[in-house]
Amino acid sequence: MDNAAKSVTLEPGLRDAIVALIGQLRLARDGNMPGQVRFNDEDPELKALAGLINDILGNVRSEVDHLQDVNRDLDALVRQRTAELEHAKTLAEIGSTQKSKFLAQMSHELRTPLNSIIGFAQLLLDSKKEHLSERQSKQVNHILHGGRHLLGLINDVLDLSMIENGKLDLNLEAVETESLISESIEMVRPLIDRDGLTFENRTDPDIELPGIRCDFLRAKQCLINLLNNACKYNTPGGTVWVETKAFKDDWVRITVGDTGIGIPEARQHELFRPFSRLGREETGIEGSGVGLLLTRLLLHAMGGMLDFDSDEGKGSRFWIDLPRTERPVSSETVLEMGPVEIEKRPQGVVLYIEDIASNVQLMRDMLGEYTDVQVLTAASAEEGIALALEQLPDLIIMDINLGGMNGIDATRYIKSVPSISNIPVFALTGDVQENTRARCEEAGVAAFFEKPIKVNAFIDAVCVVLDQRLGRFL
Ligand code: ADP
Repeated sequence: MDNAAKSVTLEPGLRDAIVALIGQLRLARDGNMPGQVRFNDEDPELKALAGLINDILGNVRSEVDHLQDVNRDLDALVRQRTAELEHAKTLAEIGSTQKSKFLAQMSHELRTPLNSIIGFAQLLLDSKKEHLSERQSKQVNHILHGGRHLLGLINDVLDLSMIENGKLDLNLEAVETESLISESIEMVRPLIDRDGLTFENRTDPDIELPGIRCDFLRAKQCLINLLNNACKYNTPGGTVWVETKAFKDDWVRITVGDTGIGIPEARQHELFRPFSRLGREETGIEGSGVGLLLTRLLLHAMGGMLDFDSDEGKGSRFWIDLPRTERPVSSETVLEMGPVEIEKRPQGVVLYIEDIASNVQLMRDMLGEYTDVQVLTAASAEEGIALALEQLPDLIIMDINLGGMNGIDATRYIKSVPSISNIPVFALTGDVQENTRARCEEAGVAAFFEKPIKVNAFIDAVCVVLDQRLGRFL
């Protein structure tokens, strides 16, 4: 048997038919519409073949037609969905930007009257010139307490909105666990003492704790929140305790426990809902129901976690887990120096640029305690700069949100004019967004203070600057 391939010679008509078919199928494959095949041949067999090929091509054509229709529909659908998504995204972006702006603006607006409430109340309590009666100082203490509560709430809501919009700036660093805990406990010590509670540190003293990676101030805020709750929801003669340990190689767990009223099991699922107080609003215990939510979100933002368990009538345990890290260099050497005792006898000329009359009055009253300090005021940046050039004050205190030129531009200008560029500028503002502080620092302010003003810290800073200007520290 001869197995060698035989070359077959096709009839010329058949060969043409096959070539035509291949050509048309190629067109169809490449997405083009196939046409018709025609032969100039009267052979009935070839005619039948052409008919068959055209039938096949007809089928291919309608299939291609159909696919193109589907493709077109899909394309239109994808375009429509993309447009809808983009629209929704834009609206969400506008919404969240506007919400952030609104909240920032709102917080600023609320801080301005709070600056008066808290500032004047502090002045009334601390005034060395006029002493309040016992009844009056109790009442003023209520004003101060209410003002600070409101301020806390404004800060919490602003923090929540910053987290929600991804605008929270965190300074993640290696933190000494013991410092974090001891500083937080110090903050709640007055509450523990006031309520006659006992504090226990249940951390094993023989174990050296690793450092943790977190934003120190934010982690402290979380811990203070938990410690505050452990005091607030405690029972008379109760205990607040803290236990810290490293676990699972990579984590440090700080547990805050109390022997207080606990949380009913049926309501535990509401714990992290904003403004949910789980019925405690009727008990007279002060609160707003956002602290735990904020604490949890802050911890998540730092790569940590918050969890709890609680027995009604027996107490609760809340624990924070944060990633461990190497122990940072101890800050003891710096602390050993202790605070510098400042003798408050400031002298000099202070220029306050501020457009809200009650804030101006508060500053006058604050600095009015010191007879050697002269206070000049200007209600706009332009007026302030003119006064600074004329009077060469020792310190400029600058509000930031001024009508006309704002405080940041004014500072920048002051720093560019040689005759006044060396005058220290303090920024004092209710706009506490992180970028405002950064912009003020970049413009050259010597210090940044938030409204409501912390009177003592502010006066201390003013004294230091005026003393330096007098050459007392030089
Ligand atoms: P706030 O204390 O301002 O109401 P939180 O968000 O801190 O807000 O807490 C929400 C609620 O959880 C509280 O109102 C209280 O009912 C409950 N809660 C929180 N901590 C404790 C605790 N340690 N013991 C009992 N209940 C607690």
